[in-house]
Amino acid sequence: MRQQTTGIHHVTAFVRHAQATVDFYSGVLGLRLVKKTINFDAPEVYHLYFGNEAGSPGTAITFFPWPTSRQGRIGGGQVGITSYVVPMGSLDFWKSRFEKFGIAMTLTRRFGEELVQIEDPDGLRIEIVEREQGAASKWAFGGVPADKAIKGFGGAVLFSTAPARTAAVLEQVMGLVKISEEGDFVRFQAAGDLGNLIDVNVAPMSPGTGGAGTVHHIAWRAQDDEDHARWRSLVDESGFRPTPFIDRQYFNAIYFREEGGILFEIATDPPGFSRDEPAETMGNKLMLPEWLEAHRAEIEEGLPPIQVRVLEADQQ
Ligand code: ZN
Repeated sequence: MRQQTTGIHHVTAFVRHAQATVDFYSGVLGLRLVKKTINFDAPEVYHLYFGNEAGSPGTAITFFPWPTSRQGRIGGGQVGITSYVVPMGSLDFWKSRFEKFGIAMTLTRRFGEELVQIEDPDGLRIEIVEREQGAASKWAFGGVPADKAIKGFGGAVLFSTAPARTAAVLEQVMGLVKISEEGDFVRFQAAGDLGNLIDVNVAPMSPGTGGAGTVHHIAWRAQDDEDHARWRSLVDESGFRPTPFIDRQYFNAIYFREEGGILFEIATDPPGFSRDEPAETMGNKLMLPEWLEAHRAEIEEGLPPIQVRVLEADQQ
């Protein structure tokens, strides 16, 4: 049978400030900080994961906050815009919310849908769209009740240095189906109901520069280790160079760069974020892999304290 991903597993981006990131993604967007850990290759840097109540695949955005990072430039070879999906009828709630927080909005339309586009504190481009599809989030925080909460990713807009090549890898390797074209955009659909609509901007795009405010990679879902092995073979047979399987604690990963310059990861749904701490208290404690547990004291010492907090505008 043909390999088909159900959609986005997670998106990983670079930012500068850990607390500003927590305040934006939890405080404003109402997502749950589902995991507080570190960059396993650079223990002085956090790795923060935000998602729905479980950080389910298709809902998780992850960050490496690096205070001295240079500012990146969004461009070809990157996820240009990360799309979040909210329940039908909740877009006005989100518009008022962004207004309340003084966040500048651009209102636009694509493929017949109304979009609210904003930037996070580091300039990462985010958009919000209403859709029926996707399970409701069970997480409520601050001024965001569960019935208005972000369900997860709607998809992403890919900026490519070679859009036709990027389109080809989506169709021929990842198993997405081209469903529509409009202006500069071609829309592809994955098999699942979250993180499943991927728009490729076909306008020629000069390469972006990595750094704060840019997406580092987009990860696609694999069902389990067996499916992951099939993906790795397929990527390899398709002429790309996948990395070996890498244990990321909460999923297993392989990476490869597609010809439009975008770094793709394929990540397994299991084991998920409750593998090393209880689901009820996920995100509260700094979690370390076993091999770094012996260095906990010095690692904690080197990290700026962060706090998930209800923001002032929500306290009135
Ligand atoms: Zn990743």
